[in-house]
Amino acid sequence: MSSIDSKPPKLDIKYTQIFINNEWHKAVKGKTFPVINPSTGEEICQVEEATRADVDKAVEAARKAFDVESPWRKLEPAARGNLMRKFAQLLRRDIGYLSQLETLNNGKAVEDSKGDIYASADCIEYYAGWTDKIVGETIPGAHDQMIFTRHEPIGVCGQIIPWNYPIMMMAWKLGPALACGNVIILKPAEQTPLSALYCASLIKEAGFPPGVVNVIPGDGPECGNAVAAHEHIDKVAFTGSVEIGKKIQEAAAKSNLKRVSLELGGKSPLIICEDADIDYAVSVAHRAIFTNAAQNCTAGSRTFVHAKIYDEFIAKSVELAKNRVVGDPFDPMTEQGPQINESQFKKILGYVESGKKDGAKLECGGERAGSKGYFIRPTIFSGVKDDMQIAREEIFGPVMSVLKFDSYDDVIKRANGTNFGLGAGVITKDLTRGMTFAQRLQAGSVWVNDYDAVCNQAPFGGFKQSGHGRELGKYGLEAYYEVKTVVVKLV
Ligand code: ADP
Repeated sequence: MSSIDSKPPKLDIKYTQIFINNEWHKAVKGKTFPVINPSTGEEICQVEEATRADVDKAVEAARKAFDVESPWRKLEPAARGNLMRKFAQLLRRDIGYLSQLETLNNGKAVEDSKGDIYASADCIEYYAGWTDKIVGETIPGAHDQMIFTRHEPIGVCGQIIPWNYPIMMMAWKLGPALACGNVIILKPAEQTPLSALYCASLIKEAGFPPGVVNVIPGDGPECGNAVAAHEHIDKVAFTGSVEIGKKIQEAAAKSNLKRVSLELGGKSPLIICEDADIDYAVSVAHRAIFTNAAQNCTAGSRTFVHAKIYDEFIAKSVELAKNRVVGDPFDPMTEQGPQINESQFKKILGYVESGKKDGAKLECGGERAGSKGYFIRPTIFSGVKDDMQIAREEIFGPVMSVLKFDSYDDVIKRANGTNFGLGAGVITKDLTRGMTFAQRLQAGSVWVNDYDAVCNQAPFGGFKQSGHGRELGKYGLEAYYEVKTVVVKLV
């Protein structure tokens, strides 16, 4: 077992300022904020704090970069793709440093950081391939008309991202936006700005013209809100909580009615049928919830298990959870690092208390691991009922809630009985049953005999309050272009 005591490497933190116009800037108001290592609770460094005035500066740079005669607008689509490929190459070149930086700041296991960076480079390359394939349609008109559509970039896109996958969320946002020819103001989460700032230096090195990508570290209420409410930002894309997603949509509506795309939370069901291979089902359910210390918007946080295999499932899941390696995220054997910060840590332990109080049975975990940092032991509750708080609210922590079912019609209703609709999974050997679930589950992604099988070419997003718009795949481009109809009269 790896030690809980984290021994972070001495990393040279190169970039802590605001990135505008391919240059590093101090904050206009001269403020900085601390960035914390979640493995120890200690400060890593101070970062310049962008406020409204810095957002204005970034908007000015971005608008200039989007000017119709700018170098960026005059680039051939394929040349845009080449810049993106170069950026992807640089991500892979620097994976050693970048994975350590990501782990230092976010706490995720270093092997997971590497996986995220490879996936991010792949995502950027996937979208690089689209740059010269974003086509409109020709449309039949009257005999003396030519009608066609152009898919044009929207303009200045604000992108507000969370702390759980700092590099990957950046890649998911930059990829489609750049492929369509937009310019970007990216606000990383205040908890995890370091990898985005380093990546900004790679954007410059790759050769993107100044102002095309700007990175502004800052908090939500001031900096994030300034983006969402800005009169000269044309679109805002957001990944985060439902609560803030609603605020962003409201700020967008009250300002200039900028376009909005949202990827929000979940309380995703994973349904294990009686015919499932039990060991396989246990391993999928384990991964579905505990991946990334369960700080995952698609986390399979309601595990519905058929009554006939329920007891065996619990016993085997508890054994697996107890063996999960929680500890120093820099140790390559570690599977689970700390939660992101003290407030999440306390919130999660509060949910554990609520589960106990509501009468669920704590099978394992439910407590802190180690004495510093924000580590929590993998936790399993059995006997969870639909109306308990732990079955209704997003915990964003390593807590598996196992619910029993014996009727398939009933479990579909229960699985759908939530305001969320991001992901859903079903484990069964009966393909007809799997397909029936796939048809009836209300979720943006349904995985049959798998979970969280997200890939760059397939769309990802939410039904209901889990968001609107899709990321990834061809559908992901739709959030980043305007459709212009051109009608030509043949006079
Ligand atoms: P989480 O609960 O995962 O921290 P949040 O939804 O609070 O998620 O935050 C996700 C992102 O939204 C972060 O970059 C954060 O700074 C930003 N944010 C928080 N509040 C606001 C706000 N009022 N307006 C715009 N962005 C915000």
